[in-house]
Amino acid sequence: MRILKYCFLSVIFISTSLFAQEPTSTKPQGHTDQNKFRQMKDLLATPNETRTASGAPGYKYTQQQVDYVMDIRLDENTSQIFGDEKITYHNNSKDHLQYLWIQLDQNMRAKDSKTPDVKEESFKTPFNSAQSFTKNNLQERFDGGFNIEHVKNDNGSDLSYTINQTMMRINLAKPLAPGDTFKFEIKWWYNVNNHVTQGGRSGYEAFPDGNNTYVIAQFFPRLCVYNNVEGWQNMQFWGRSEFALEFGNYDVKLTVPADHKMEATGELQNPKDVLTKEQIKRFELAKKSFKDPVFIVTQEEAEAAEKQRSTKLKTWHFKADKVRDFAFATSRKFLWDAMAVDINGRSVMAISLYSKEGNPLWEEHSTRVVANTLEEYSKLAFDYPYSKAVSVHAEMGMEYPMICFNYGRPNEDGTYSERLKRGMIGVITHEVGHNFFPMIVNSDERQWTWMDEGLNSFVETLAELDYDPNYITGNLPKDIVPYMGGDQSNISPIMSQGDYVHQFGPNAYTKPAAGLYMLRQTIMGPELFDYAFRTYSQRWMFKHPTPADFFRSMEDASAMDLDWFWRGWFYTTDYTDIGVKDVKQYYLTDKPTESAKERAKRFKMDLADYPGRFIYYAEAVDGVIPQDAKSASDFAELNTYLESLSPEEKAKLKEAPKHFYEVTFEKPGGLVMPIILEITYEDGTVERKKYPAEIWRYNEFEVKKVFKTNKAITSFVIDPDLETADVDTSNNVWPKDDATAFSKFKEKVKG
Ligand SMILES: [Zn+2]
Repeated sequence: MRILKYCFLSVIFISTSLFAQEPTSTKPQGHTDQNKFRQMKDLLATPNETRTASGAPGYKYTQQQVDYVMDIRLDENTSQIFGDEKITYHNNSKDHLQYLWIQLDQNMRAKDSKTPDVKEESFKTPFNSAQSFTKNNLQERFDGGFNIEHVKNDNGSDLSYTINQTMMRINLAKPLAPGDTFKFEIKWWYNVNNHVTQGGRSGYEAFPDGNNTYVIAQFFPRLCVYNNVEGWQNMQFWGRSEFALEFGNYDVKLTVPADHKMEATGELQNPKDVLTKEQIKRFELAKKSFKDPVFIVTQEEAEAAEKQRSTKLKTWHFKADKVRDFAFATSRKFLWDAMAVDINGRSVMAISLYSKEGNPLWEEHSTRVVANTLEEYSKLAFDYPYSKAVSVHAEMGMEYPMICFNYGRPNEDGTYSERLKRGMIGVITHEVGHNFFPMIVNSDERQWTWMDEGLNSFVETLAELDYDPNYITGNLPKDIVPYMGGDQSNISPIMSQGDYVHQFGPNAYTKPAAGLYMLRQTIMGPELFDYAFRTYSQRWMFKHPTPADFFRSMEDASAMDLDWFWRGWFYTTDYTDIGVKDVKQYYLTDKPTESAKERAKRFKMDLADYPGRFIYYAEAVDGVIPQDAKSASDFAELNTYLESLSPEEKAKLKEAPKHFYEVTFEKPGGLVMPIILEITYEDGTVERKKYPAEIWRYNEFEVKKVFKTNKAITSFVIDPDLETADVDTSNNVWPKDDATAFSKFKEKVKG
């Protein structure tokens, strides 16, 4: 017999070939293998010359450019904004465009807006205060929509246009050819909303001293993105899913009361017209101050300013190149401070604008957090390319190129809770971070909220932990457990359009952020992850990436097949649940075990014919090792064999193991994940092992592993640091009645 020939060659060889355990784990009936690892060919668009299979832009990649020259006037008495807007549209695509689509975001606040119509209403709160009864039942709906006065081409003749809610189609007389440019002009005005009482990402806040602070954005008709993925991105703005915008150059003049202080996207062109000599001098000082912010306008000066009201006007002139949007903040109430940040040898300004109501929190933290954010994001993504980043105090959190609006208001007496401070540091980090995603890595926010919010919340988490190592981020894998383990009918896959998802925050922010954190810390490791993440970020700087470009870049730059992760974490609502189902102990014996006899029968062997030849592994019943159990040195044939080895070969041998365990891992959760295992030995020492997710490739329900050791094992704990968002940790500890291991673990779960 051929098999017997091998027997004489080597005992070791036989034990691995003849008596090796085949996978014996169980699977449900009718289950198809490997589905969790199948490649994403069915989910991702076919690569082409514009978007390559590597995840990089292809050689035929193009994008449109839209330049704006605007004259804007704010009437503080009526809170109305008036605009004269000249647009130059560059058709860089290879397509003839029959029409142009424009976003009229303010129409979400128009009297006939359908946004309130699609909101469910009920008498869930069956009572009202006089104030809210008036608001709900007696007042007309606020009219904050755009009033379009005219749309003209550059000869001054009227252009035909059609408005469909928040979208306006400019009907071109003849199609715009590839490479051609179209110039036109829109004149408009609208009533600015109070963003505190009426909500919104833009508007004014009215203070008891009679002054307003204005944080103004989405305030002008903006071109929609046209590309080879969506055609025109003209899904309506319902108020939730944000924007898709082209890059372009902006030249904007803003006329406001003469005593206002202002910040905006871009570089100020006329400081001498709008700033005092003293303010210009202080700005020069700030440019050299890398440690602490320098006041441009102090609290004293701001308090003096808010007691008066200038009737004169001033015009601020800003220019910005290669930005996808423009926003500004203006008020006489503002304090102003700034400091310099060194981004790899280039100076960038970190700036804050806030009313005295934000102090003392704002002068202490805002500008420093801006600086920290620019430094940290530059490490993870790319060097911050703009000249400044501004944080404005506005009881909301919203981002625009170079400027963002942030909350964090202390009590009237200036006291504040640790929670408020944390919230403020978090929101500033987050909104300043949006400069990178999506202001520069310009993904389509209307389609894919997670591409900017998820990526940004992830980098934000790393930046916050750098600002304060004890920071509670809320974006770690353990933080997403209640959501992922919750009611499945109330959960959507991450890969859903933002207006249609349940639980927007966990769906588009926390889950993708926690997933990326897990990918970096647990699955890929920081070195591989960071290189790939940087590759993606730099490939798509000033371009329009899609989810596929991200998924592909992360794999292409790391040599890791992550399709199982994207497929599970982003395309399904499955959750992680991995546990220890069973642990069996084995011991060595020279007596053939029943299972060895069974196995030998297959080869027509009777083990009684080979006394002393084989070493048998016998299962310890109830974990009890019998008195007559053998150790490796008791086997004469093994000793003889080992003696026959050369001294070099002998020197390489390990000490023979004394304890043998077979562990069955179970996976009731739908997601495949690495198994992170903590093993504790009888002498108290602890060892960690990590098995890649691919351990589940042949059986995603159960898998076994054997542990051969010299010291007895006292416990196994799965995912001891809560890295994998395991929703049910009751099966993570063995022995199940090991109170010490279990309570130690439970404490971590709670923490
Ligand atoms: Zn955000």
